[in-house]
Amino acid sequence: MRDRSPLRERYEVVVIGAGIGGLTAGALLAARGKDVLVLEQHYLPGGSAQTFPSGRYRFDVGPKLFFGMDHGRGNMRYHQEVFAELDEWPELSSYESYYTFRHPRGTLRIAGSTEEYLHELITCFPEEAAGIRAFYRRLDQLHELFVAMPNLPLDDPWTYATLLWRVPLERLVELNHWSQVTLGELFDRYITSPEVRSIINAEMIAFCYSDLDETPAVLGALVLIERHKGGGTFTKGGSGELAKLLIRGLEKHGGRISYRSPVIRIGVEDGRARGVVLGDGTRIKADWVISNAGVVNTFGRTGTPVTPLVDQRWLRPATRARVDQLKITDSFITLFAGVDASVFPEGTDPHTLYIDHYAQTGNDLRMICFCNSSFKDPSLAPPGKHALQIVYFDPDYCRYDVWQRNEDYAARKAEATERALTMAEQVFPGIRAGIERLEVGTPLTYEDYLAKWGGGWGVRMSVDQFAFQRFQHKTDIDRLLLVGADTHPGIGVVSVTMSGINCASLIARPR
Ligand SMILES: Cc1cc2nc3c(=O)[nH]c(=O)nc-3n(C[C@H](O)[C@H](O)[C@H](O)COP(=O)(O)OP(=O)(O)OC[C@H]3O[C@@H](n4cnc5c(N)ncnc54)[C@H](O)[C@@H]3O)c2cc1C
Repeated sequence: MRDRSPLRERYEVVVIGAGIGGLTAGALLAARGKDVLVLEQHYLPGGSAQTFPSGRYRFDVGPKLFFGMDHGRGNMRYHQEVFAELDEWPELSSYESYYTFRHPRGTLRIAGSTEEYLHELITCFPEEAAGIRAFYRRLDQLHELFVAMPNLPLDDPWTYATLLWRVPLERLVELNHWSQVTLGELFDRYITSPEVRSIINAEMIAFCYSDLDETPAVLGALVLIERHKGGGTFTKGGSGELAKLLIRGLEKHGGRISYRSPVIRIGVEDGRARGVVLGDGTRIKADWVISNAGVVNTFGRTGTPVTPLVDQRWLRPATRARVDQLKITDSFITLFAGVDASVFPEGTDPHTLYIDHYAQTGNDLRMICFCNSSFKDPSLAPPGKHALQIVYFDPDYCRYDVWQRNEDYAARKAEATERALTMAEQVFPGIRAGIERLEVGTPLTYEDYLAKWGGGWGVRMSVDQFAFQRFQHKTDIDRLLLVGADTHPGIGVVSVTMSGINCASLIARPR
């Protein structure tokens, strides 16, 4: 039952936004004895990781592939750290194959060990066998380097003492080096095939929204190797169950969430955050304010219509310039489709990625990703049907600046839908006729529902916006912290969970 009693005038910690980063920080702080209020502008929690009902279906808005949810599988076990502290555990469904990647020369099944996958890749590209093996050996080493690093806030002076104590200096230097080298640079040392390059480029865009020539090599190594360490896991009931779990953790420790509560202002006095103002004028005082609303929406950006949450006079000119220059990801066209089960041949994987040509950059990539949540949890669709999230990447439609809410909007949306369905037919013939329910999200839909300028994933994960060069938690304003995908370590559910853990630790450490 949602608590509808009036909000109090003061809380110790106010969190703006119930994305996974904000909820993780809020729930952990509640568990550590803080009096926490989470304010969410939407009527559902989870931000990009929400599941919404539509007719007889429940659709996942965003993530479908999780790292490290499951006990004993994989290396990125940060979710489990949070579950243990909250003593709340999700019900999971596991599946063996991570995804199937279809490309003009064949099909790759991302399943099993790295060795099994390499066998598939080399069968498809035998002329590159030696280079592929050498490249993956290097990725393996970088992956090991990355996962051995403790998750600590980079803007806490204690972090440096801890790191130097726990990690040999040469490993830190090496990690820093490979954070500044792109995956493309590493790839070109070993492999010459433009087709293999294009496949890895597409995977980087699908999972980091940065192309090969901007993704840090260590991040690429994590994406390409970790999937072979733990298989796929999914929260039963949809990805939105993770947010629900965090809310249970928040509430059982006395915290509160309030929906349809947009924050329009962060109150600052003498350089210190003092509270927030809601859209209806309600003022709430706080000792700490945590913003999960994204860097641009929190600080503002020249040339956008965003009204920043903080008065920009509290920001250093260098911070304003930095936000103005940030590279932000593009967005997507998403089809939320209820589809007849007969469309999918026996043995179809829960996720299929498809490219129809070997693009070398994100600018000429057309890719379609089918994420079938009800393969993993049949309760998400009625019997005989499936609940699909079909994410379509196309430079003609995914760029935010090509969309405007004007008289052309409906026609443009119909055109994008048509293009996506035409490509979808190449993968699953008959899918168009098999659709009984369809909702379409454009970059502007994402922007509206997530209250996030640009409607995409946020600050790009490029070498120049990674690790130390990414926004951290502390800001120019005392007691105003940032959390979520725009902060270190970045985009993705496990990353924002790490961000939430670190952000909470700056206010209160585990008891
Ligand atoms: C289509 C898609 C597919 C994805 N696939 C994957 C995947 O397979 N695996 C993976 O790991 N990750 C994936 N991601 C990325 C992942 O979902 C995000 O990086 C992560 O969930 C972002 O979390 P966040 O904490 O930054 O919050 P967000 O999701 O950005 O949520 C922020 C919240 O703040 C609220 N808010 C904003 N402004 C205000 C305000 N002023 N007042 C009150 N509330 C406010 C919003 O309504 C929202 O609920 C995907 C994302 C998308 C969109």
